[in-house]
Amino acid sequence: MRQYNFSAGPSELPLEVLKEIQEELLSYKNNGFSIMEISHRSSYYEQMQNDAIKDAKELYGINDDYEVIFVQGGATMQFSLLAMNFSLDNKPCEYIDTDVWTQKACEEAILAGVNAKIVASSKDSKYNYIPKIALNNDSSYTYICSNNTVHGTQYKQLPISNSPLIVDASSDFFSKKLDFSNIGVLYGGVQKNAGIAGFACLIIRKDLLERSKNKTMPKMFNYNTYADNNSLFNTPPTFAIYVYAKIMKWIKAKGGLDAINQENEIKAKYLYDIIDNSNFYKAYVNNDDRSVMNVCFTTGNDELDLEFWSKAAKEHNMLGLKGHKKLGGLRASIYNSASLEKVKILGEYMKEYERVRG
Ligand code: PMP
Repeated sequence: MRQYNFSAGPSELPLEVLKEIQEELLSYKNNGFSIMEISHRSSYYEQMQNDAIKDAKELYGINDDYEVIFVQGGATMQFSLLAMNFSLDNKPCEYIDTDVWTQKACEEAILAGVNAKIVASSKDSKYNYIPKIALNNDSSYTYICSNNTVHGTQYKQLPISNSPLIVDASSDFFSKKLDFSNIGVLYGGVQKNAGIAGFACLIIRKDLLERSKNKTMPKMFNYNTYADNNSLFNTPPTFAIYVYAKIMKWIKAKGGLDAINQENEIKAKYLYDIIDNSNFYKAYVNNDDRSVMNVCFTTGNDELDLEFWSKAAKEHNMLGLKGHKKLGGLRASIYNSASLEKVKILGEYMKEYERVRG
C-alpha cells in the first residue's frame, strides 16, 4: 500500500504520473529504450525537453520575453549564481528576510562577493508573517521567497519594488498564476511541486541576461550559457527533466494553474478550519500570510506533537507530518499532488486525536 505522504520535499508525485513513468521505463514511446538511456542530443530527448519548456511557459502565460532554463545544483546553488549573474556595480542586492531560505540566499550572495543586505524581516515575530513594505529602491534586485517551507508563510501578493524581483518559488512552484509584471526571475528546485530532485528551473526575463553577458566567470556559472544552448551545453539531468515534463502535462490536464490553485485553496482551508475551530491545535502563522502548501501547526505540547506524527506514521500510514527541526511542531505539506481525499483523511485523524487527547 502507498503511504499518505505529507513530506515537505522531495514529496509525493501524482500516481498517474508514476504509473506512466513505470510504463515507459522499459520502452519510451515504444522505442525499446528509456529516456535516460539515450543521448540528450537525440531528437527524442530534445523534443521532450522543448515540450516541457513550452508547457511551463504556457502554464504561467508568459511569452518569449522569458527564458526557461534548467540548472543543476538545486535551489541552493542558485543562491550564489543569481547574485553573480544579476548584481550590478554600485547597486546593492536587497533581500526580504522570511528566515532560513532568504537568509541563506543572502549569505551565499555575500560569499559570492556582492553587496547583499537584508532590508526587511519578520524576525521580530518569529517569522509568523510576511513583511509588507513598498520598496522605493534603487537596487540590483529585490529577492524574496514566495513560500517559506519551514514556517508555512506565503506571499499572497508579490511586493511592489522598483527593481526586478527574484523569487524563490521552490515550495509553491506551478501552484498558481502569478503577475509577472515585476518578476525578473522566478525559480525553484523542482522536487516539491514540479518533479523530482536534480535541478532548478529558472524563468528569467531575457533583458536581465544582458547583465552577465560580459561578466568573467566560469561558463557553467553564467546563465547565458544555459539560455544560449537550450540548457544543453553539457549533459543535463535527463531523467529529472523528463519527470518535470510529465508534471507540466499533468498540470495542464488538470485544467492549468487556476484550476490547481482553486483545489489547493480548498485543501488548505479545510485544514486551517479544523485548526481554527479547535482549542487544541494552534496555527503558527498570521491568518493573512498562511501557506496553502505547508500547513504548520502544533498542539502546543512537544510530547503530544511527537505522539501525533509518530502515531500517524505507525498506525495510519501518514508520512512526513513532523515539523521542520527549526520550528518543531507539525507540518502537513499539501502540494499540487495531494488529493482532497488524502487531506480529509488527515483531517479526520486530527479530529480523532483531539477527541482522545484534547
Ligand atoms: N528554497 C526553499 C523555499 C526550499 O524549501 C528549499 C528546500 N527545502 C530550498 C530553497 C533549497 O532547495 P535545494 O535543496 O533544491 O537546494
